[in-house]
Amino acid sequence: MTDRSRPIPIARRPEPARATRMAELATLPVFFKLGGKRALVAGGTDAAGWKAELLAAAGAKIDVYAPAPGAALETLVRESVEAVTLHRRPWTKDDFHGAAIAVGDCADAAEADAFSRAARAAGVPVNIVDRQAFSDFQFGSIVNRSPLVVGISTDGAAPVFAQAVRARIETILPVSFRRWAEAARAWRPIVQSMRLGFRARRSFWERFTRLALATPDRTPEESDREELVAAISKDTGAEVGSVALVGAGPGDPELLTLKAVRVLQSADVVLYDDLVSPHIVEMARREAERITVGKRGHKPSCTQEQISGLLIELARAGKRVVRLKGGDPMIFGRAGEEIAALQAAAVPFEVIAGVTAATGAAASIGVSLTHRDHARRLQFVTAHARGGQLPGDLDWRALADPAATTVIYMGVKTLPALTERLLRQGLAAATPAVLVERATQPDERVIVAPVGELAAAVTASRPTGPCIVIVGEALREIPAAFARKAAAVSHAAE
Ligand code: SAH
Repeated sequence: MTDRSRPIPIARRPEPARATRMAELATLPVFFKLGGKRALVAGGTDAAGWKAELLAAAGAKIDVYAPAPGAALETLVRESVEAVTLHRRPWTKDDFHGAAIAVGDCADAAEADAFSRAARAAGVPVNIVDRQAFSDFQFGSIVNRSPLVVGISTDGAAPVFAQAVRARIETILPVSFRRWAEAARAWRPIVQSMRLGFRARRSFWERFTRLALATPDRTPEESDREELVAAISKDTGAEVGSVALVGAGPGDPELLTLKAVRVLQSADVVLYDDLVSPHIVEMARREAERITVGKRGHKPSCTQEQISGLLIELARAGKRVVRLKGGDPMIFGRAGEEIAALQAAAVPFEVIAGVTAATGAAASIGVSLTHRDHARRLQFVTAHARGGQLPGDLDWRALADPAATTVIYMGVKTLPALTERLLRQGLAAATPAVLVERATQPDERVIVAPVGELAAAVTASRPTGPCIVIVGEALREIPAAFARKAAAVSHAAE
């Protein structure tokens, strides 16, 4: 044992570490109020015009100095007569007096140097477009949900990177957050005037925030404020949870909606089916608890009642619950039963649409499911009744309609019986058909065959993943770009 590994005697223990200091900041983000203040912009370029527009959006009165203004600037001046005044001459030192901020698009380093010296001499913070060395501040990339504003900077290190970060933030902050931020601004003085204690005030804003995050697309109303106030007056400390039924799409994580990604990233618990790909479950918030409620084969590992019960129990415990379902939740996903249970239990819920297997598969093989001449109707059916057999109540006349495209979910087991019945019903055996296994996933497989031969081809190729079958004249031409996938088929058929 070395000396170092011995416990240090208490008296000689180092002082406990102080709270960690803020890490170094390349630049200080501050949010500058410009309402009614004077801003100075020099230059007639598009870049100068864009800066003038930005400053005008922030409420400044802008004097633009440009001997030869470009078209963009002329348009801006015409459209914003109130905010922007154009002076068709070069800037002078005197122009800086009384300005709160100055921006120059300078022709060369000499002008940039002169401009920034003049600004600093007048005590005006200055930015020179694309010349950081002469600037006091930079403009960040902006995500605008005003009064909620996000600014992003890489301190000039990588503007393109900053743009990408901005794009990401755009996707996770719904546009409608603007309305909630506006409501907060309008309600703040009202809440202030209620003379609530600190805890009650805090509870109000916590509830407000939960409501905004859970239902961002709603427009906040006065009645919401009243309800929030009523809720804090009988505050028991119990939190209200919620459930989102979310379409996970057919497998490719890129096919998730922005909304789906957003709720996944604020989930406390995620309940998911077998069909949902692990990559998608992975996208949930790191701390979220993940529970599989998969139905394996035809034997459910959880009954529908158990799943609904769990959703209610978790929401009542204050959790934000995400129920991930393959494809679209409203198509052959038993969403109706979960919705009925949630409603009966008065648990707040929302449904987020997903890409269903039919449209995922169609995109994957490059075929339109409808056609102006020979597929004016599109029908989705399940070929799997409760007991696993072909449902007895399918409308066979409709399914054999040569002018329709039919998409069959859960149809592998009953495919021989189904195609046989279609032919008996009068559908031409040569009608094109396709089976797509694991549509949109890396190991997707496609089997193309006339409907009269499809069942045999499928039996020969023994699919193991989820399969969707599509039948109809719309499939007559699978584009050349997808022929490679289709070629695999004919082999399977041989
Ligand atoms: N709600 C889902 C359907 C659930 S029913 C949706 O909208 O897609 C389950 C059936 O969907 C499977 O038996 C299969 O027919 C189909 N399916 C789901 N994902 C699929 C995929 N990636 N490829 C092919 N078929 C799929």
